[in-house]
Amino acid sequence: MADLQPVRGTHDILPDDFRLHRHIGDMAANLAARHGFREMTPPVFEFTDVFSRTLGETSDVVTKEMYTFDDRGGDSITLRPEFTAGIARAFMSNGLAQEAPLKFFARGPVFRHERPQKGRLRQFHQIDVEILGVLGAQADIEVIALAWNLLEDLGVAKDVHLELNTLGDPESRQAYRGVLLDYLGKYRGDLSEDSRTRMDKNPMRIFDSKDAGDQEIMADAPLLRDHLNETSQTFFAEVLAGLDALGISYEIKPRLVRGLDYYTHTAFEFVTDTLGAQGTVLAGGRYDGLMEMMGGRPTPGIGWAAGVERLSMMLGEAPQADRPIVIVPLGDEAQGPALKIAFDLRRAGHVVDMGYSGNLKKRMARADKANAKAVLILGSDELAKGAATLRNMESGTQADIPLDNLVETLKLHF
Ligand code: ATP
Ligand code: MG
Repeated sequence: MADLQPVRGTHDILPDDFRLHRHIGDMAANLAARHGFREMTPPVFEFTDVFSRTLGETSDVVTKEMYTFDDRGGDSITLRPEFTAGIARAFMSNGLAQEAPLKFFARGPVFRHERPQKGRLRQFHQIDVEILGVLGAQADIEVIALAWNLLEDLGVAKDVHLELNTLGDPESRQAYRGVLLDYLGKYRGDLSEDSRTRMDKNPMRIFDSKDAGDQEIMADAPLLRDHLNETSQTFFAEVLAGLDALGISYEIKPRLVRGLDYYTHTAFEFVTDTLGAQGTVLAGGRYDGLMEMMGGRPTPGIGWAAGVERLSMMLGEAPQADRPIVIVPLGDEAQGPALKIAFDLRRAGHVVDMGYSGNLKKRMARADKANAKAVLILGSDELAKGAATLRNMESGTQADIPLDNLVETLKLHF
């Protein structure tokens, strides 16, 4: 038991934080449902290939962040570092191509072996949406609109802006690759080691490098947007027009590429200045080549994922939970009736908690701390008469009330 500390980069989510997590997750789930997405979940772990063959040989996730181990049967297993690859695998494993287009919502923990810091954990939580089987830009617009609605409803939209780019189709990328490599050839020796590897495998990914020297080199690099074929240009223009029509503002960032290799066309991030270096709260894009890369029939896809911890930091506080009625039994004779009353009130839908022990003053203070709306005090004398004292914690007033028909009586008070 190493000091009884959680593993570095993991944390306990205690009740107040959990309420916030749940608020974010439930709001996303409800909003996604309103947009026609259905919740599902792939497993927390998959065969390593599911991620290593799809996320790309140059992605940070595959090169250094995956939690990979051999299980007892000798299979290489990886804890999911993201949802998209698992959902694409599920789409194929379950033969869902017949049912496409499909819209999925998922949420849960993901795992990346990163250097822990504010907003960067090793176990964190994502909410995720995917549209599978829609080729046109309407899907791009729909998922971005959903993201925008979520940030708006969570109350953080004013601190977030949308950054957008197109990564073009494979033909445009191929043409551009040569141009970019010509440029990079002059600087090979100056690039970071990671970026020299990217240069051989996926040079565009160097735009995503966090190395200052690389960034300086990339500041003058030729841009894909000057090499887009007509299809890619038209697609991007449709996305922009769609966002304009919805009044969703954005900033085009010609150097925005995404961390994973499988994106095509639209790539976007919702970014904030309020979280320091870890400013991307929600990010996504189109991945039309992914299914084929996994050995399935070509199926277009687009989606996004948001980090729940980063959103939590932005929100700070969860809305109030339902306020309980706290039952305070005084003396041994009151314990049994207290449990019965709690049982009946809970059956009737009330939030009920118990003021277990201590003197009355202490129990009242604890009820107040639990934000109780009322305290039902069961004293033995009153109990013998079939009555109890109801204290309204809001107004501070007390009333003697009969215990039979308590559910009905409480309705009169609240
Ligand atoms: P970054 O550039 O911050 O490493 P990324 O491109 O790796 O982000 P994605 O793979 O797009 O991130 O994941 C989607 C979202 O998940 C991010 O926008 C962020 O909110 C969240 N996220 C990613 N990595 C972490 C992490 N290590 N800890 C907490 N949240 C994270
Ligand atoms: Mg990352």
